[in-house]
Amino acid sequence: AIAGVAYIGYGIYEDRHPEPQTEPDPTKKTLVILGTGWGSVSLLKRLDTENYNVIVISPRNYFLFTPLLPSCTTGTIEHRSIMEPIRTILRSKKASVRFYEAEASSIDPDRKVVRIFDNSEVKGDMTETEVPYDMLVVGVGAENATFGIPGVREHSCFLKEIGDAQRIRKRIMDCVETAAFKDQSPEEINRLMHMVVVGGGPTGVEFAGELQDFFEEDIKKLVPEISDRFRVTLIEALPNVLPSFSKQLIEYTESTFKEEKINIHTKTMVKKVTDKTVEAVATRPDGTKETIVFPYGLLVWATGNAVRPVVQDLMSRVPAQKNSRRGLAVNEYLVVQGARDIWAVGDCAVAGYAPTAQVASQEGNFLARLFNNMARTEALESKIAELSGSLNIQPGNTAEISREIEEYERQLRRIKDVKPFHYSHQGSLAYIGSEKAVADVTWFNGNVAAAGGLTYLFWRSAYISMCFSTRNRLLVINDWLKSKLFGRDLSR
Ligand code: NAD
Repeated sequence: AIAGVAYIGYGIYEDRHPEPQTEPDPTKKTLVILGTGWGSVSLLKRLDTENYNVIVISPRNYFLFTPLLPSCTTGTIEHRSIMEPIRTILRSKKASVRFYEAEASSIDPDRKVVRIFDNSEVKGDMTETEVPYDMLVVGVGAENATFGIPGVREHSCFLKEIGDAQRIRKRIMDCVETAAFKDQSPEEINRLMHMVVVGGGPTGVEFAGELQDFFEEDIKKLVPEISDRFRVTLIEALPNVLPSFSKQLIEYTESTFKEEKINIHTKTMVKKVTDKTVEAVATRPDGTKETIVFPYGLLVWATGNAVRPVVQDLMSRVPAQKNSRRGLAVNEYLVVQGARDIWAVGDCAVAGYAPTAQVASQEGNFLARLFNNMARTEALESKIAELSGSLNIQPGNTAEISREIEEYERQLRRIKDVKPFHYSHQGSLAYIGSEKAVADVTWFNGNVAAAGGLTYLFWRSAYISMCFSTRNRLLVINDWLKSKLFGRDLSR
């Protein structure tokens, strides 16, 4: 084997870090990154890891390409196609990075330590410990909002993690097979074949579209005896779905859903969930209220984000965070307000933008630039200090040393100028089923709204190009081809 290069087969060699995991360098600062989502991984991708002792901590040892998660619920895409192991990502970094698969339970900003515990099935002797940091990046994301509505946590499926998508996929087939059970009553078949989605944001809409496709393209053919009973209902508290998209795209989505026979109940707020029913209050056009009970087989809850306990705990320890509700308030450099040496990125940070993958990845890129610059600045400053000191000792070389100092100072002036974080919105895309998508895209500083079949092709190519690695890209294309040619896999 060639030193520093790994053979990955088919005559391909890949650069890799030569040392497995080196001991931390005491002359460098320890940078701890919490999370392996969009924010943290974008930071890692661009970070010059040789400047710091980098430690990554996350209960998930992979990066998940979340935009295609709804497609995993029906098997259009297999889950491993959109996962990239964090250790593969770290291997390509110049200096070694430590990874601990663990959950952060608390952050002590005074002692500068993170408390972590092993949340996995297999436990060793050590399950809980502390990791000290000089610099900390919190990129732990958010959890699912339930607003304390009774029964939601116990009975519904969320759609955030890969496990959620797998659970939904199993549950759909469980409902179908149970509905097809011998002598099942018509009411029970109706209930089991009723798929309810709560939340008309992009997650709920994309999932409803994928579900309808699954039914039309596969279930209907393979389980024809119950096919006329399948129904998808989307419940949204606001007057329309996809509130963040432009008006014409909202109308297009709603009319496409009508064609696809997805029932939309807007101005309908879910108040209670039981193991078989969803209770909601609908506001009629005349302003009166009506309670509706929806019996369901599958319930998917997609009503947005809530703050994770570890973030809540940190907020309670920092007085400047007292008035922040939706997450860690950060300044224009993504520094957590009122805390020293802590930055936050992604859905756990409140920087004035929507909690999207696009925002998180731009924030991660920004921090990488900032940290790379900080390290270069410190290196130049120490060189200048060293040379200035030697000026007095070596009087003969004064002119040359002064020139060197000037050159370093010039470089320093150039790199110190880090502009505050600015989010540049590239647009929003959503798949709405039956090979149609909607897109609000920024084009030459203007906004372009597009919808339909061509937009669907655009949606596909955009997501393919955004996939984490070539491996992911090939796997996703392969899954699309496979489900087109042979249909989706109905095994549970
Ligand atoms: P969201 O916050 O965008 O939407 C949740 C919806 O649930 C809201 O419209 C809300 O009115 C509704 N709701 C809340 N409580 C309810 C109740 N009790 N009964 C009925 N309806 C209720 O959530 P999301 O779709 O999960 O998206 C989260 C974030 O991720 C957003 O910023 C979104 O833009 C982003 N995202 C984007 C894409 C994309 O662009 N394709 C896909 C997924 C998520």
